[in-house]
Amino acid sequence: MTIDAVGLTKRYRDVLAVDDVSFRVAPGEIAALLGLNGAGKTTTIRMLLGMVRPTRGSVSLFGRPVRPGARAVWARVGHLVETPAAYPELTVRENVGLAARWYGPADGRAVDAVIRRLGLEKHAGHRARTLSHGNAQRLGLAKALVHRPDLLVLDEPANGLDPAGVAEIRQLLHELADVDGVTVLLSSHLLTEVARLATRIAVLATGRLVWDGTAAGLLAQARPRLAIAVRDRERAAIALRAGGHICEEDGTGGLTLTGERAIARPDEIATLLVTAGCPPTRLVVEQDDLETGFLRLAGAK
Ligand code: ATP
Repeated sequence: MTIDAVGLTKRYRDVLAVDDVSFRVAPGEIAALLGLNGAGKTTTIRMLLGMVRPTRGSVSLFGRPVRPGARAVWARVGHLVETPAAYPELTVRENVGLAARWYGPADGRAVDAVIRRLGLEKHAGHRARTLSHGNAQRLGLAKALVHRPDLLVLDEPANGLDPAGVAEIRQLLHELADVDGVTVLLSSHLLTEVARLATRIAVLATGRLVWDGTAAGLLAQARPRLAIAVRDRERAAIALRAGGHICEEDGTGGLTLTGERAIARPDEIATLLVTAGCPPTRLVVEQDDLETGFLRLAGAK
Protein backbone atom coordinates (compact mmCIF):
# COMPACT_ATOMS: atom_id res chain seq x y z
CA MET A 1 0.00 0.00 0.00
CA THR A 2 1.24 3.48 -0.79
CA ILE A 3 -0.79 5.00 2.04
CA ASP A 4 -2.07 3.07 5.03
CA ALA A 5 -3.80 5.17 7.68
CA VAL A 6 -5.15 3.36 10.73
CA GLY A 7 -7.47 4.95 13.29
CA LEU A 8 -6.20 8.48 12.68
CA THR A 9 -7.54 10.82 15.33
CA LYS A 10 -6.72 14.46 16.08
CA ARG A 11 -8.17 16.40 18.98
CA TYR A 12 -7.61 20.14 19.45
CA ARG A 13 -8.82 20.89 22.99
CA ASP A 14 -12.59 20.43 22.67
CA VAL A 15 -12.63 19.95 18.86
CA LEU A 16 -12.35 16.43 17.50
CA ALA A 17 -11.01 17.48 14.07
CA VAL A 18 -10.45 13.90 12.86
CA ASP A 19 -12.15 10.92 14.50
CA ASP A 20 -10.84 7.38 13.99
CA VAL A 21 -10.25 7.56 10.22
CA SER A 22 -8.73 4.54 8.46
CA PHE A 23 -8.11 4.22 4.74
CA ARG A 24 -5.63 2.78 2.28
CA VAL A 25 -4.48 3.96 -1.11
CA ALA A 26 -2.92 1.47 -3.54
CA PRO A 27 -0.06 2.32 -5.92
CA GLY A 28 -1.19 4.19 -9.04
CA GLU A 29 -4.59 5.13 -7.62
CA ILE A 30 -6.04 8.64 -7.73
CA ALA A 31 -7.81 8.88 -4.38
CA ALA A 32 -9.78 11.81 -3.03
CA LEU A 33 -10.74 13.02 0.42
CA LEU A 34 -14.06 14.73 -0.05
CA GLY A 35 -15.79 16.89 2.55
CA LEU A 36 -17.33 20.24 3.35
CA ASN A 37 -15.27 23.02 4.94
CA GLY A 38 -14.12 21.97 8.37
CA ALA A 39 -14.70 18.25 7.71
CA GLY A 40 -11.10 17.44 8.64
CA LYS A 41 -9.46 17.05 5.23
CA THR A 42 -6.49 19.34 5.82
CA THR A 43 -5.85 17.90 9.29
CA THR A 44 -5.91 14.35 7.85
CA ILE A 45 -3.48 15.34 5.07
CA ARG A 46 -1.17 17.04 7.56
CA MET A 47 -1.10 13.86 9.66
CA LEU A 48 -0.32 11.78 6.55
CA LEU A 49 2.62 14.06 5.81
CA GLY A 50 3.96 14.05 9.36
CA MET A 51 3.20 17.78 9.77
CA VAL A 52 0.71 17.21 12.58
CA ARG A 53 1.13 14.53 15.22
CA PRO A 54 -1.98 12.33 15.53
CA THR A 55 -3.62 12.16 18.95
CA ARG A 56 -4.17 8.46 18.16
CA GLY A 57 -3.61 6.20 15.20
CA SER A 58 -0.78 5.77 12.74
CA VAL A 59 0.23 6.26 9.12
CA SER A 60 2.55 4.28 6.88
CA LEU A 61 3.76 5.47 3.50
CA PHE A 62 5.25 2.81 1.19
CA GLY A 63 5.00 0.39 4.09
CA ARG A 64 7.10 2.51 6.48
CA PRO A 65 5.77 4.37 9.51
CA VAL A 66 5.69 8.15 9.04
CA ARG A 67 8.20 10.02 11.17
CA PRO A 68 9.42 13.57 10.63
CA GLY A 69 13.07 12.56 10.13
CA ALA A 70 12.44 9.66 7.75
CA ARG A 71 14.07 11.33 4.74
CA ALA A 72 14.00 8.27 2.51
CA VAL A 73 10.20 8.41 2.61
CA TRP A 74 9.95 12.15 1.98
CA ALA A 75 12.14 11.94 -1.12
CA ARG A 76 9.32 9.89 -2.68
CA VAL A 77 6.54 12.32 -1.73
CA GLY A 78 5.51 15.62 -3.32
CA HIS A 79 2.91 17.79 -1.67
CA LEU A 80 1.00 21.03 -1.92
CA VAL A 81 -0.89 21.84 1.27
CA GLU A 82 -2.94 25.02 1.57
CA THR A 83 -1.55 28.22 0.01
CA PRO A 84 1.44 27.52 -2.22
CA ALA A 85 4.43 29.23 -0.61
CA ALA A 86 7.28 30.59 -2.75
CA TYR A 87 10.13 33.07 -2.29
CA PRO A 88 8.45 36.20 -3.71
CA GLU A 89 11.65 37.92 -4.88
CA LEU A 90 13.07 34.84 -6.63
CA THR A 91 12.03 33.88 -10.14
CA VAL A 92 9.84 30.89 -10.94
CA ARG A 93 12.89 29.00 -12.18
CA GLU A 94 14.91 29.81 -9.04
CA ASN A 95 12.03 28.69 -6.82
CA VAL A 96 11.69 25.37 -8.62
CA GLY A 97 15.50 24.97 -8.57
CA LEU A 98 15.57 25.47 -4.80
CA ALA A 99 12.82 22.90 -4.31
CA ALA A 100 14.81 20.43 -6.46
CA ARG A 101 17.98 21.00 -4.44
CA TRP A 102 16.17 20.17 -1.23
CA TYR A 103 15.97 16.58 -2.47
CA GLY A 104 19.42 16.21 -4.04
CA PRO A 105 21.93 17.74 -6.45
CA ALA A 106 20.34 20.36 -8.75
CA ASP A 107 19.24 18.96 -12.09
CA GLY A 108 18.62 21.79 -14.55
CA ARG A 109 16.87 19.56 -17.04
CA ALA A 110 14.35 18.31 -14.49
CA VAL A 111 13.65 21.94 -13.52
CA ASP A 112 13.06 22.98 -17.14
CA ALA A 113 10.96 19.89 -17.84
CA VAL A 114 8.59 20.50 -14.93
CA ILE A 115 8.30 24.22 -15.79
CA ARG A 116 7.29 23.22 -19.32
CA ARG A 117 4.89 20.59 -18.08
CA LEU A 118 3.06 23.13 -15.93
CA GLY A 119 2.95 25.65 -18.81
CA LEU A 120 5.11 28.16 -16.94
CA GLU A 121 7.82 28.74 -19.59
CA LYS A 122 6.64 32.28 -20.29
CA HIS A 123 7.00 33.10 -16.59
CA ALA A 124 10.21 31.18 -15.82
CA GLY A 125 12.18 34.44 -15.47
CA HIS A 126 9.48 36.37 -13.57
CA ARG A 127 9.59 36.92 -9.83
CA ALA A 128 7.13 34.68 -7.97
CA ARG A 129 5.37 37.70 -6.43
CA THR A 130 4.20 38.87 -9.87
CA LEU A 131 2.33 35.62 -10.65
CA SER A 132 -1.45 35.39 -10.92
CA HIS A 133 -3.17 33.11 -8.42
CA GLY A 134 -3.49 30.34 -11.00
CA ASN A 135 0.19 30.52 -11.93
CA ALA A 136 1.23 30.59 -8.26
CA GLN A 137 -0.75 27.36 -7.88
CA ARG A 138 1.08 25.94 -10.94
CA LEU A 139 4.40 26.93 -9.39
CA GLY A 140 3.40 25.11 -6.19
CA LEU A 141 2.68 22.01 -8.27
CA ALA A 142 5.96 22.34 -10.16
CA LYS A 143 7.84 22.41 -6.82
CA ALA A 144 5.91 19.37 -5.65
CA LEU A 145 6.74 17.44 -8.83
CA VAL A 146 10.33 18.44 -9.64
CA HIS A 147 11.91 15.47 -7.85
CA ARG A 148 9.58 13.01 -9.62
CA PRO A 149 7.79 11.74 -6.53
CA ASP A 150 5.95 8.39 -6.43
CA LEU A 151 3.19 9.92 -4.30
CA LEU A 152 1.63 13.33 -4.78
CA VAL A 153 -0.55 14.78 -1.99
CA LEU A 154 -2.58 17.87 -2.84
CA ASP A 155 -4.89 19.85 -0.58
CA GLU A 156 -7.67 21.45 -2.67
CA PRO A 157 -5.54 21.67 -5.86
CA ALA A 158 -8.38 23.32 -7.82
CA ASN A 159 -8.69 26.18 -5.32
CA GLY A 160 -8.77 29.58 -6.99
CA LEU A 161 -8.33 28.23 -10.53
CA ASP A 162 -10.70 29.14 -13.35
CA PRO A 163 -12.51 26.29 -15.19
CA ALA A 164 -9.76 26.06 -17.83
CA GLY A 165 -7.13 25.83 -15.07
CA VAL A 166 -9.11 23.12 -13.29
CA ALA A 167 -9.36 21.12 -16.52
CA GLU A 168 -5.60 21.50 -17.03
CA ILE A 169 -4.83 20.18 -13.54
CA ARG A 170 -7.23 17.29 -14.09
CA GLN A 171 -5.44 16.40 -17.32
CA LEU A 172 -2.03 16.64 -15.64
CA LEU A 173 -3.04 14.41 -12.71
CA HIS A 174 -4.53 11.79 -15.06
CA GLU A 175 -1.29 11.82 -17.05
CA LEU A 176 0.86 11.49 -13.93
CA ALA A 177 -1.19 8.52 -12.72
CA ASP A 178 -1.68 6.75 -16.07
CA VAL A 179 1.69 7.41 -17.73
CA ASP A 180 4.12 7.88 -14.84
CA GLY A 181 2.37 5.58 -12.35
CA VAL A 182 2.27 8.30 -9.68
CA THR A 183 -0.15 7.71 -6.80
CA VAL A 184 -2.26 10.78 -6.10
CA LEU A 185 -4.22 11.78 -3.00
CA LEU A 186 -6.12 15.03 -3.20
CA SER A 187 -8.76 16.78 -1.14
CA SER A 188 -11.75 18.70 -2.39
CA HIS A 189 -15.20 19.91 -1.42
CA LEU A 190 -16.51 19.54 -4.99
CA LEU A 191 -18.06 16.14 -5.66
CA THR A 192 -18.61 16.76 -9.36
CA GLU A 193 -14.96 17.66 -9.82
CA VAL A 194 -13.66 14.71 -7.81
CA ALA A 195 -15.98 12.22 -9.50
CA ARG A 196 -14.32 13.05 -12.85
CA LEU A 197 -10.84 12.49 -11.49
CA ALA A 198 -10.61 10.04 -8.62
CA THR A 199 -10.92 6.28 -8.81
CA ARG A 200 -11.41 6.06 -5.03
CA ILE A 201 -13.31 8.52 -2.86
CA ALA A 202 -13.35 8.80 0.92
CA VAL A 203 -15.99 11.17 2.28
CA LEU A 204 -15.29 12.96 5.56
CA ALA A 205 -18.05 14.64 7.60
CA THR A 206 -17.25 16.37 10.89
CA GLY A 207 -14.05 14.37 11.23
CA ARG A 208 -15.56 10.94 10.53
CA LEU A 209 -15.24 8.73 7.48
CA VAL A 210 -18.80 8.29 6.21
CA TRP A 211 -18.06 6.65 2.86
CA ASP A 212 -15.08 4.92 1.29
CA GLY A 213 -15.39 3.31 -2.10
CA THR A 214 -15.26 3.74 -5.84
CA ALA A 215 -16.38 6.92 -7.54
CA ALA A 216 -19.01 4.87 -9.39
CA GLY A 217 -20.31 3.48 -6.09
CA LEU A 218 -20.64 6.97 -4.67
CA LEU A 219 -22.51 8.17 -7.73
CA ALA A 220 -24.91 5.24 -7.34
CA GLN A 221 -25.82 6.65 -3.92
CA ALA A 222 -27.81 9.29 -5.73
CA ARG A 223 -30.58 6.71 -6.12
CA PRO A 224 -33.64 7.26 -8.26
CA ARG A 225 -37.07 7.15 -6.64
CA LEU A 226 -40.68 7.37 -7.79
CA ALA A 227 -42.45 10.34 -6.25
CA ILE A 228 -46.25 10.20 -6.13
CA ALA A 229 -48.83 12.76 -5.13
CA VAL A 230 -52.40 11.55 -4.45
CA ARG A 231 -55.52 13.02 -2.84
CA ASP A 232 -55.97 10.12 -0.38
CA ARG A 233 -52.51 9.13 0.74
CA GLU A 234 -53.54 6.43 3.22
CA ARG A 235 -55.72 4.62 0.74
CA ALA A 236 -52.98 4.79 -1.91
CA ALA A 237 -50.39 3.45 0.54
CA ILE A 238 -52.62 0.49 1.44
CA ALA A 239 -53.16 -0.31 -2.27
CA LEU A 240 -49.44 -0.08 -3.04
CA ARG A 241 -48.46 -2.30 -0.12
CA ALA A 242 -51.12 -4.82 -1.13
CA GLY A 243 -49.46 -4.82 -4.57
CA GLY A 244 -46.12 -5.74 -2.97
CA HIS A 245 -44.50 -2.30 -3.10
CA ILE A 246 -42.62 -0.72 -0.26
CA CYS A 247 -43.58 2.92 0.04
CA GLU A 248 -42.72 5.71 2.42
CA GLU A 249 -44.30 9.03 3.23
CA ASP A 250 -42.16 11.80 1.83
CA GLY A 251 -42.83 14.45 4.47
CA THR A 252 -44.72 16.74 2.10
CA GLY A 253 -47.96 14.77 1.83
CA GLY A 254 -46.79 12.45 -0.97
CA LEU A 255 -45.40 8.94 -1.24
CA THR A 256 -41.99 7.69 -2.33
CA LEU A 257 -41.14 4.31 -3.83
CA THR A 258 -37.55 3.18 -4.29
CA GLY A 259 -38.07 -0.41 -5.48
CA GLU A 260 -36.49 -1.28 -8.82
CA ARG A 261 -39.80 -2.52 -10.28
CA ALA A 262 -41.61 0.71 -9.44
CA ILE A 263 -38.88 2.78 -11.03
CA ALA A 264 -38.68 0.65 -14.14
CA ARG A 265 -42.51 0.54 -14.63
CA PRO A 266 -44.16 3.67 -13.28
CA ASP A 267 -47.11 2.97 -15.63
CA GLU A 268 -47.93 -0.18 -13.60
CA ILE A 269 -48.03 1.93 -10.45
CA ALA A 270 -50.34 4.43 -12.15
CA THR A 271 -52.70 1.61 -13.24
CA LEU A 272 -52.64 0.10 -9.75
CA LEU A 273 -53.58 3.43 -8.18
CA VAL A 274 -56.34 4.13 -10.71
CA THR A 275 -57.80 0.66 -10.14
CA ALA A 276 -57.73 1.26 -6.37
CA GLY A 277 -59.76 4.45 -6.87
CA CYS A 278 -56.98 6.94 -6.02
CA PRO A 279 -55.46 8.16 -9.27
CA PRO A 280 -52.16 10.00 -8.90
CA THR A 281 -52.17 13.76 -9.39
CA ARG A 282 -48.42 13.60 -9.99
CA LEU A 283 -46.11 10.66 -10.64
CA VAL A 284 -42.47 11.17 -11.55
CA VAL A 285 -39.09 9.43 -11.28
CA GLU A 286 -36.66 11.76 -9.46
CA GLN A 287 -32.96 11.51 -8.82
CA ASP A 288 -30.69 13.54 -6.60
CA ASP A 289 -28.09 15.54 -8.39
CA LEU A 290 -24.58 14.71 -7.25
CA GLU A 291 -24.16 17.57 -4.83
CA THR A 292 -27.47 16.82 -3.09
CA GLY A 293 -26.49 13.17 -2.74
CA PHE A 294 -23.18 14.20 -1.26
CA LEU A 295 -24.75 16.61 1.21
CA ARG A 296 -27.12 13.85 2.32
CA LEU A 297 -24.09 11.56 2.90
CA ALA A 298 -22.27 14.30 4.74
CA GLY A 299 -25.29 14.59 7.02
CA ALA A 300 -25.82 18.26 6.23
CA LYS A 301 -29.26 19.77 6.34
P1 ATP B 1 -11.25 23.44 5.05
O1 ATP B 1 -11.56 23.00 3.67
O2 ATP B 1 -12.13 24.56 5.54
O3 ATP B 1 -9.79 23.66 5.34
P2 ATP B 1 -11.02 20.87 6.27
O4 ATP B 1 -11.93 19.77 5.89
O5 ATP B 1 -9.67 20.88 5.68
O6 ATP B 1 -11.72 22.25 5.98
P3 ATP B 1 -9.71 21.05 8.80
O7 ATP B 1 -8.97 22.30 8.41
O8 ATP B 1 -8.97 19.80 8.86
O9 ATP B 1 -10.95 20.86 7.84
O10 ATP B 1 -10.42 21.35 10.20
C1 ATP B 1 -11.22 20.40 10.88
C2 ATP B 1 -11.65 21.00 12.22
O11 ATP B 1 -10.53 21.14 13.10
C3 ATP B 1 -12.28 22.37 12.13
O12 ATP B 1 -13.34 22.42 13.07
C4 ATP B 1 -11.15 23.29 12.53
O13 ATP B 1 -11.65 24.47 13.10
C5 ATP B 1 -10.38 22.46 13.54
N1 ATP B 1 -8.94 22.78 13.57
C6 ATP B 1 -8.06 22.60 12.55
N2 ATP B 1 -6.81 22.97 12.91
C7 ATP B 1 -6.90 23.41 14.20
C8 ATP B 1 -5.95 23.94 15.16
N3 ATP B 1 -4.65 24.07 14.84
N4 ATP B 1 -6.41 24.29 16.38
C9 ATP B 1 -7.72 24.13 16.68
N5 ATP B 1 -8.64 23.64 15.85
C10 ATP B 1 -8.26 23.29 14.62
